[in-house]
Amino acid sequence: MSESSEPLRLLILGAHPDDAEYAAGGLAALYRSFGHVVRMVSVTNGEAGHHKVFGPKLIERRKLEAANAASVIGAEHEVGDERDGRLWNTEALRERLIRMIRSFKPDLVLSHRPQDYHPDHRNLGQAVIDAAYLLTVPAICPDVPYLTKMPVFGALFDKFTRPCPFEPTVVVDISPVWDRKLAMLEAHESQFFEWLPHNMGKPALPFNKEQRRKFLNQWMTDLATNIRPALEPSIKRIYGRDMADKIQLAEAFEISQYGTEPDKAGLLRLFPMIPNSPY
Ligand SMILES: [Zn+2]
Repeated sequence: MSESSEPLRLLILGAHPDDAEYAAGGLAALYRSFGHVVRMVSVTNGEAGHHKVFGPKLIERRKLEAANAASVIGAEHEVGDERDGRLWNTEALRERLIRMIRSFKPDLVLSHRPQDYHPDHRNLGQAVIDAAYLLTVPAICPDVPYLTKMPVFGALFDKFTRPCPFEPTVVVDISPVWDRKLAMLEAHESQFFEWLPHNMGKPALPFNKEQRRKFLNQWMTDLATNIRPALEPSIKRIYGRDMADKIQLAEAFEISQYGTEPDKAGLLRLFPMIPNSPY
């Protein structure tokens, strides 16, 4: 629990219904295991995330998948009605985010970086940054009480280096909750067993549930292994050299300059799964 023994509140703002689980599902599961509150939001309706099914049918399916994924860890969730593949950083989106963040009163807000691969990710990442300062400005969205304490903002991992690479402020060992993260991703079956393998040119998928789980585990383990070298210096800094080799499955977050910038004690409060020493 946090210093005040109030549960912490984590808000993950993804552009699409599987983004929160994909980039921060391990952190979300760990937060829930500590009794903290997690809300996973998809700002768009996910209507473009398939090669065979589009529109209302896909939206309904993805809403159900998001609900199933959130139920794995007992998180709150929301699938918005912005159009997938057509998300722009507008005044309306900014104000929607301001109202959403003010209403939830998060300690930590995570979203995409404006450098990420998908235009919806980039536009949402920028919109979240643009909303940050205005959370404390009473004249903006006066129908929802303004915040008197700015949350900490952080970015979800991406591999893009231009114009600036992701800098992992925090790396979280997610091996204790790996199965729960996989179960959340497995709930998004239209994505991890249909659309994404198709889009990435992966071979035809195994059919039964056990084979699917094995396939997903291998895929996600490979991805974790691929990003591990980029996280090595941060893992050593945070967990120490002796522990570092044991941490192979990790999620990384870059704390933003646009919200409260936590000191070491503040970071350990927000990431209570990280050992106190030697970070
Ligand atoms: Zn996405």
